[in-house]
Amino acid sequence: MQVEIDEPRCVAAGHCVVAAPEVFDQRDDDGVVVLLDANPPDDEHEHVREAALLCPAAAIIVRDRGGAP
Ligand code: SF4
Repeated sequence: MQVEIDEPRCVAAGHCVVAAPEVFDQRDDDGVVVLLDANPPDDEHEHVREAALLCPAAAIIVRDRGGAP
């Protein structure tokens, strides 16, 4: 799994951090998402997918290796 962030879209809602705190963090000053792990381990995939679904700005892009996004 490859994770990307479309940072300009992020509205700092923070849902991603709640869903997958090992993969996402937020900047202290403006709350914009920080990607901690662009290649999360298998046991984080479900959390990352949940984060992508919850993100109100659709700023989280998830690609499965070798497949279409
Ligand atoms: S859930 Fe989306 S909008 Fe909210 S902080 Fe994460 S990436 Fe940004």
